[in-house]
Amino acid sequence: MLIHVCCAPDLLTTIFHLRDAEFFFYNPNIQPPSEYEKRREAVEKVAHHFSLSVHYGEYSTEEIRKWYASVKDYKNLGEGSERCKKCISVLLERTAQEATRRGHESFSTTLLASPRKNLSMMENIGKTIEKKYGVKFFFKNFRKGGAYQEGVRLSKELGIYRQNYCGCVFSLLERREKHAEISGKRGHM
Ligand code: SF4
Repeated sequence: MLIHVCCAPDLLTTIFHLRDAEFFFYNPNIQPPSEYEKRREAVEKVAHHFSLSVHYGEYSTEEIRKWYASVKDYKNLGEGSERCKKCISVLLERTAQEATRRGHESFSTTLLASPRKNLSMMENIGKTIEKKYGVKFFFKNFRKGGAYQEGVRLSKELGIYRQNYCGCVFSLLERREKHAEISGKRGHM
């Protein structure tokens, strides 16, 4: 199986269940590039520690443009909206292509370990891509069975970078707006 990797903390939760899979870090959604580097380095650290086989996808201007073209009409809809559906479809479609190219029979994603993601939305996306490429989507709630707690424990123990926004520039701006709103309310107390 080839598993798409979104970030190191979710990878640590996922390997609680599936350590023998191959992994694929492909995230043209992440901005700015310095943040992409931080997340990639964190994944490399986990891969090295657990001797995981991780392949790294493209993070080129062309890939970033392709990703942007898919989400731009929905950019102001917020996290969990159609924007995320389009974004995750790009990530998983590329993973399914890579899985086929490498001769895997199935694919999945560490996004299934994220507490901020809607599992049924991801299952629907995965099943749609499964039909399109003929490679099976493996669905499981990776947070279950103590995996999430173990992932948090390991990331603290190994000093793994834990990001504080989802990844795209829109989620970064939304987070900043939310913080400004909270600070503004505090200022009026
Ligand atoms: S909030 Fe996250 S899932 Fe949604 S579009 Fe941005 S990066 Fe993608």
